[in-house]
Amino acid sequence: MIQAETILKKHRLRVTQFRVDVVEIFASAGRALSSPDIEEKLKDADRITLYRTLKSFEDKGIIHKAIDGTIVQKYALCEAHCDEHHHHDEHVHFHCESCENTFCLERVFVPKVDLPAGFSVTQTNMIVHGICEKCK
Ligand SMILES: [Zn+2]
Ligand SMILES: [Zn+2]
Ligand SMILES: [Zn+2]
Repeated sequence: MIQAETILKKHRLRVTQFRVDVVEIFASAGRALSSPDIEEKLKDADRITLYRTLKSFEDKGIIHKAIDGTIVQKYALCEAHCDEHHHHDEHVHFHCESCENTFCLERVFVPKVDLPAGFSVTQTNMIVHGICEKCK
């Protein structure tokens, strides 16, 4: 189990019970979570506080958007080397067509794309759709 307090302190966020709860929900989920997913797991879900918390977690490099091609915005915990305004989550996101969960495949890296002259890349996302190991 990860230490939620350590993560918050490392990213220079004040430790509050709410923030600790949200980090722990991400850590134990094993998949990307939408804001309604998190609300479901929180005892006192204040939507505005949760929205602000997710925003500051993303800014500070604690969570990243797990873009999965659906209209539901999901987030997942970052790996240790993400920092404020510098995310390094260049891994593939896997969307299961059966359970509809989205997973970070942290060891599967997004391949480098060769762009035509004059184009420069700021971010590359790769979604793989299929059936996850639990649904197989
Ligand atoms: Zn990140
Ligand atoms: Zn599945
Ligand atoms: Zn991810």
